[in-house]
Amino acid sequence: MLLPQLIEKIFEKYEKLRQEQKFTPATQKQIFVELNAVFGDTLKRALGILDEQIILIYSTESEIREIVEIADRNNSAQVYKLFSGINFCPCKYFASNVLKVNILNISPTYSFDNSQNTDQAYTCEHVLALRLAKLLCSSCVRKEILVANKFNFLLQQMCIDDF
Ligand SMILES: [Zn+2]
Repeated sequence: MLLPQLIEKIFEKYEKLRQEQKFTPATQKQIFVELNAVFGDTLKRALGILDEQIILIYSTESEIREIVEIADRNNSAQVYKLFSGINFCPCKYFASNVLKVNILNISPTYSFDNSQNTDQAYTCEHVLALRLAKLLCSSCVRKEILVANKFNFLLQQMCIDDF
């Protein structure tokens, strides 16, 4: 699989530039050109998330582990929970286009469009939005430090929700 390596290389390159404080407006443009080439529409949807949705990162004092919630501002019931640094999301796009699971077996009410399921995607807009937020837009994320008990409770809830 060349694509995942290519994507990691792109992010590594720009994360290094950011750390070295060599980030210019031209660099930012270049990121979008490169990411658009590999993500296409997923990039557009990820940018929409940065504009319109709330990204909340929970961690403990040590900040070793992070749980991320991406919530729709207009629909508080629609929340996706992710682990920072892990390419997994419980959304339908991830199941059908990344994992290639037949959604009909999971949710009979979801109308599944096979015509959009021909390409293997590397990730979904939620995982990509989180990476972009960390790279480009620290003001796009809210951070909350939790005591270990509360963090572990959230972790348990997440496992019950998703599996
Ligand atoms: Zn997703």
